[in-house]
Amino acid sequence: MMSPITVAKADEIILQNTGNFGVEEVPLINATGRILANDIIADRDLPPYNRVTMDGIAISYLDYEKGTRSFYVKDTMAAGDEPITVDTTNQCVEIMTGCVLPEGLDTVVRYEDITIDGDTATINTEHIKQGANIHYKGSDKKVHDSIVANNTVVDAVTISVAASVGLTTLSVKKLPKVVVVSTGDELVDIHQLPSPYQIRRSNSYAIKATLLQHGIDADLLHVNDNSDVIEAELMKCISAYDVIILSGGVSMGKFDYVPQALANAGIKQLFHKVLQKPGKPFWFGQNSEKNVVVFAFPGNPVSAFLCLHRYFMPWLFASISHPSIAYSFAVLAQDVTFESRLQYFLQVTVHISMSGQLIATPVAGNGSGDFSNLTASNAFMELPAEKNDFKKGEVFKIIPFKTISGNG
Ligand code: AMP
Ligand code: MG
Repeated sequence: MMSPITVAKADEIILQNTGNFGVEEVPLINATGRILANDIIADRDLPPYNRVTMDGIAISYLDYEKGTRSFYVKDTMAAGDEPITVDTTNQCVEIMTGCVLPEGLDTVVRYEDITIDGDTATINTEHIKQGANIHYKGSDKKVHDSIVANNTVVDAVTISVAASVGLTTLSVKKLPKVVVVSTGDELVDIHQLPSPYQIRRSNSYAIKATLLQHGIDADLLHVNDNSDVIEAELMKCISAYDVIILSGGVSMGKFDYVPQALANAGIKQLFHKVLQKPGKPFWFGQNSEKNVVVFAFPGNPVSAFLCLHRYFMPWLFASISHPSIAYSFAVLAQDVTFESRLQYFLQVTVHISMSGQLIATPVAGNGSGDFSNLTASNAFMELPAEKNDFKKGEVFKIIPFKTISGNG
């Protein structure tokens, strides 16, 4: 029996046991939210030609410099047209945004600065600069340059860049195969009517929903508090999944069979119990031959939810080289006292103040069983174990589980 460990030690052990699930090719738009597995490379210069950026006329600056203000309009070009050849002085081309700048011309004058009368365009300003309104070939990126780096989260910008270089698919990090196993004789599935002494298993759905937000479609499984059944089901999961997330059955109760069942199934315990509240009975282990890690969270809904965000998410991010971190920092909005040597995860509502600070206001609830309180909060604040008194204005780590926005 191992004694409880600190949160820092739990982090260390978990991050020593990250996985690698390989790489897969997915259709471009389906890659949104995934992690790029290689750089996106420019297939030609960006822009690929000297691109006109304003509607107007293209001239040779030399003519303008010599005093010419009226130009013969040789022709008109639309975006996508082949460039026109201009080989005489004092000629211009009426030209639209997105056109290739014709050979020999070097400056674009906006419609706003000219008048056109028949086939003559006259410039009405003395403020023309050589090279104006041209986005030069290769000035953004050169052919073969990397435009988006490996390990970037694919977002709308990445998708647009990928589309611009003609990628119909993207190579992204594979996500782990996860099963969420709920345990407990008191639990019924959501379509069943609970008896007065039963409850519905909400944890499984909270965990599944969180994972879905990160592209993981976890399977759900329920087992009753029967050690043989738990062990048999775990044996099957070990071969089929990269990650097993359990909820319930890891405490000191007479029917908390999970740690023993995990040991019998060949999962090596790396720790059991963390000096924290909520979530103290958290159990973690792995089997390196089968390449499976097991996060066994206590069943109390807030404990399971906290442990998922505080421990599983950083593990996932590290495993797939996700560049984000699962935490941030915020200013505590009022004094808080917590008389214990455990690290306390306080439920808070964080908002962005007018001065750009994240401000965390504690949300009182009824402890780790009170999951309805999570609707009123959007983060946990990590109050260090070494202290008991936490003052208004002090800054601590937060683990957000919803979007943080302005107001107030
Ligand atoms: P346990 O960790 O198994 O002792 O469970 C602690 C508390 O969490 C008990 O009140 C359980 O009924 C509750 N609980 C366990 N699993 C779930 C679940 N999947 N959904 C909702 N509540 C749960
Ligand atoms: Mg239980």
